[in-house]
Amino acid sequence: MKVIDIINKAKSTVFSFELLPPLKGNDTSRMYRTIESLVDFDPKYINITTHRDELEFKELNDGSIVKHTVRKRPGTVAIAAAIQHKYGIPVIPHILCGGFSKSETEHVLIDLNFLGIENVLALRGDGVKNQHVFKPDPNGHSSADELVAQIKDLQKGKYLEADLKNSTPLDFCIGVAGYPEKHFESPNKELDLSYLKQKVDAGADYIVTQMFFDNQVYYDFVEKCREAGITVPIIPGIKPINLKNQLTVLPKIFSIDLPTELATELAKCKNNEEARRVGTEWAILQSKDLVANNAPSLHIYTYGISDNVGEIVKAAF
Ligand code: FAD
Repeated sequence: MKVIDIINKAKSTVFSFELLPPLKGNDTSRMYRTIESLVDFDPKYINITTHRDELEFKELNDGSIVKHTVRKRPGTVAIAAAIQHKYGIPVIPHILCGGFSKSETEHVLIDLNFLGIENVLALRGDGVKNQHVFKPDPNGHSSADELVAQIKDLQKGKYLEADLKNSTPLDFCIGVAGYPEKHFESPNKELDLSYLKQKVDAGADYIVTQMFFDNQVYYDFVEKCREAGITVPIIPGIKPINLKNQLTVLPKIFSIDLPTELATELAKCKNNEEARRVGTEWAILQSKDLVANNAPSLHIYTYGISDNVGEIVKAAF
């Protein structure tokens, strides 16, 4: 089932969460345990992240440095299909511009269609680690709106080979990312919003936000989007804080603010256990408020740690 239909049919906020595929060398058991700990809370869909190749530098015994590429979490398409077939819950694999040519993207979308997957989250992705700027694949897309346009073309049966005859349309529901506190590369919020509108105008069906810790930031963002003529559902992203160092790591990695009250409580924590309690309580407060204010869905970022997600969902719904 398509996310947009799930949201449109729902009478109140629905629950969804995001999973990372297993690290290379691991099997699926941990991931399945995570899903099984959450199925009783009736997740309406599950997002699966995608991770591009990373550059690594290794020092050899002779002191020379060699560069090589690794993909630490391969297998998004396979794991997404396995989850959908095992649990009967729709999955939303993430599709990236970075590191992929248009033709590779087309092949991934064909595979997803063959596997019965009807949803994707279309993202640009970040630059390769250690590079400061995003560089598209020479035959790939520079920004997510271009990727959305490619997926929409396939909806009309328009493949990259223009002379393909009687081609089957691939009908995906498309989500895109939105940044209530602005994307870190954007010069300002207005330009960021205009690029978000470009993605929606290209054909995105809904928006999922970057994590935020002050709900007012989300409500203001939704208002600005509506003023800009963006009418699609805007799904809030909630990240339960699990570790004490996330006090500084999250703002650094995701360019977001932590409200003073939360930051002060986290700073007082003596260990990760205490920080997790503070983070869980905060996420419960945020989630309850979003549900009370009829957010379309909650998108909970697990980052592989899910033992407090059940507690949050139980309290919020
Ligand atoms: P875009 O929408 O392309 O925007 C990127 C930047 O370019 C912004 O500053 C924007 O304002 C600007 N811009 C956009 N369009 C144009 C244009 N036409 N011309 C000029 N500038 C433009 N990353 C992963 O690697 N894997 C994942 O699985 C993943 N999942 C995510 C899930 C969610 C819900 C979110 C919010 C983010 C996720 N990310 C993931 C991170 C995401 O890839 C990065 O934030 C990335 O830097 C931007 O992706 P985007 O799709 O928002 O890019």
